[in-house]
Amino acid sequence: MRSRKQRSPRRQAIGVRASLALLVIGCILPMAVVAAFLIVDFYTRERAQLLASTVTQARAIMAAVDSGFARTEAALLALGTSHQLQRGDLAGFHSRAVEAQADMHADGIVLIDPDGRLLLSTRRPYGERLPKLASAPLLKRILATGRPGVSDLFPSPVDGQLIYTIGVPIRRGADAAMTLNATATPARLAGLLAERSLPRTWRVAIVDGSGKIAARSHDIERFVGRPTTSALQRQLALADEGGFETTTLDGIPVYSVFSRSATSRWSVALGIPLDELTAGLRRSLAWLIVATLAALAAGLGLAWRIGGGIARSVQALAGPAAAVAAGVVPEIPPLALREANELGLALQQAAASVRTAQAERRESEQQLALAAEAARLGIWVRDLVQGKVWVSSSWRELFGFLPSEQISVAALLQRVHTDDCAAVRRVLALADTGERYEIEYRVALPQGGLRWVASRGSCETGGDGKPRLVRGVALDITQRKLAELAMQQKQREVTHLARVATLGELSGALAHELNQPLTAILSNAQAAQRFLRQATPDLDEVGDILADIVAEDQRAGEIIRRLRRLFDKRETPLQPAAVNPLVIEVLRLLRNDLLSHGVALSTVLGAEDAHVLADSVQLQQVLINLLMNAVDAMAMTDAGARAIGVRTGLDDEGWLRISIADCGSGIPNDALDQVFAPFYTTKDSGMGLGLSICRSIVAAHGGQLWAENNPDGGASFHVRLPLAAAAETAAP
Ligand code: ADP
Repeated sequence: MRSRKQRSPRRQAIGVRASLALLVIGCILPMAVVAAFLIVDFYTRERAQLLASTVTQARAIMAAVDSGFARTEAALLALGTSHQLQRGDLAGFHSRAVEAQADMHADGIVLIDPDGRLLLSTRRPYGERLPKLASAPLLKRILATGRPGVSDLFPSPVDGQLIYTIGVPIRRGADAAMTLNATATPARLAGLLAERSLPRTWRVAIVDGSGKIAARSHDIERFVGRPTTSALQRQLALADEGGFETTTLDGIPVYSVFSRSATSRWSVALGIPLDELTAGLRRSLAWLIVATLAALAAGLGLAWRIGGGIARSVQALAGPAAAVAAGVVPEIPPLALREANELGLALQQAAASVRTAQAERRESEQQLALAAEAARLGIWVRDLVQGKVWVSSSWRELFGFLPSEQISVAALLQRVHTDDCAAVRRVLALADTGERYEIEYRVALPQGGLRWVASRGSCETGGDGKPRLVRGVALDITQRKLAELAMQQKQREVTHLARVATLGELSGALAHELNQPLTAILSNAQAAQRFLRQATPDLDEVGDILADIVAEDQRAGEIIRRLRRLFDKRETPLQPAAVNPLVIEVLRLLRNDLLSHGVALSTVLGAEDAHVLADSVQLQQVLINLLMNAVDAMAMTDAGARAIGVRTGLDDEGWLRISIADCGSGIPNDALDQVFAPFYTTKDSGMGLGLSICRSIVAAHGGQLWAENNPDGGASFHVRLPLAAAAETAAP
């Protein structure tokens, strides 16, 4: 799980070249997109402008056509007023019309009566019989409106050629009696288109009022007279001006712009090939693509070269970096990048520092080893991951292992004294969980003999927080330990002596106490003798007397046993002891002494059933000492006022407290702690050891002993002890 996590960033890592390539792409592509957008936007505006100007052109062509029609109309109107026509001299008018026709840009002039009969045509000699018009919409319109007009294309009744006419009414009185028409072939309009010098690729058409093509920029012969595209016809039906995409009759996709004349109803349509319209855009976009690709290629090429340079510089530092860890100052080849050179320099400095640090570490390790050897300090390291143990030579010496012997935890445990084995196992297990430890234990040396060793160790954790190795030191403390044991022995002896001394003080009272049962036994025995000397001894009475003797003897025996226990030098292990019975036994022991000193005793035994782990005899010794001191302290107190209060109970923290209060001299405040110092005494015959021994006994029981003065005179001594746990109390 962990290793997968560690590997994943490496799998994602990309090289310098790829990074730079991404940078290049990241810079160029957005610019290309923006440029494309700007180009398209520019061409959209251009196209809109072009189309707007094309509408103007269409309008201009239409205006030119209309003005041609208007000029012809004006000329016809002028001709219509000629006196030959007014006089009805048609022959003369024919000649006049032939002359006028040349200036009129017309192919012929015809005079038509209201029935559609041609009265004369300049294209025929005067007098020749002329045909009648089949249908004459223009004639009808002119006669109806009395205004000039332009016809659509139609085949000439004279020679069948496609023509259009411009007609004006000839009035006789108020009404139009005839129409005078100028006829022209579409070729005249074609000339007009040629004059406009429009782009050759554009398709231009002039369309008559009925939607037929009157003139065209291309293929005029093929298309003239044919209806224009239905798309244009539809647009013309909707509006007089506009633009739309369509396909011309010769199949070219164009954007067509048209304008229709309001007077003649003829139209002009301009078709710009779509190809042409988008050619610029396509060309610009193509250039953009080419430029982008070229920039990309150049950028990527550059990125590849620069990236290669950086990669080589970085890779060239990999070897030197590895050398740093070994403390070797690496050679740095000249590198292309300044930063890489600086890094190389830093690596060299780091290597020098590492080397110095390693030298210093070696030196300090040597010093440490020397110090450890001098102090006979054994050093050991236990690798929890690999399960290996390393120890110094002093350690081997300490535990009696030969230099060649393999060290393991099991081998160590074999050396440990059997009584200490469990404790050593426990602390080793603790160390495995990352805890610090300290322990003192005995080592059974293979060559015989015991050695006391103090060992302490602590655990180091790895990056994952798990214990990795335990390091520690072991020190030979045999001398100290032996001295300590000797000291303890001495202390025990002193304690015993103190106890004997205490008992010496008690002996008067004890003699008195023993005296009572012995006197009772004696008088009972004498009484029995008397009874037995009678003639008829009362055996029942003798039996009772003997029972009393046995009881008194048992009492004396009990007193002697108690004394023997106190004299006993043996140390007994700590055992659960009921507190109140223990206190009562001490008070019973001292009862006579207290009585003989005239001391009134009051007890409040509150800690019922309380047990403490104790050496009962030692604890009794403490209480006897405190009570005897209390009696001593009241030597100067009035006989009637001597009193000692003994109290047992639990304090706020659930510990047992035994307090002994007197109403004696009390203790000077600055001596409240001093009284516990060894050899501190205010008594002529005192040794000053009692309280000091008491305090060390209580401390050995895990408790405290202290003194304080009572508010109403006298001193109190308090013993505070931890209660025995329920499980311990239950033990036998
Ligand atoms: P010793 O009894 O031999 O003097 P202790 O160590 O028992 O030695 O007592 C030391 C001193 O403490 C005593 O000499 C006395 O001055 C003082 N002391 C002990 N108990 C009391 C007490 N109950 N009231 C006043 N002083 C006391």
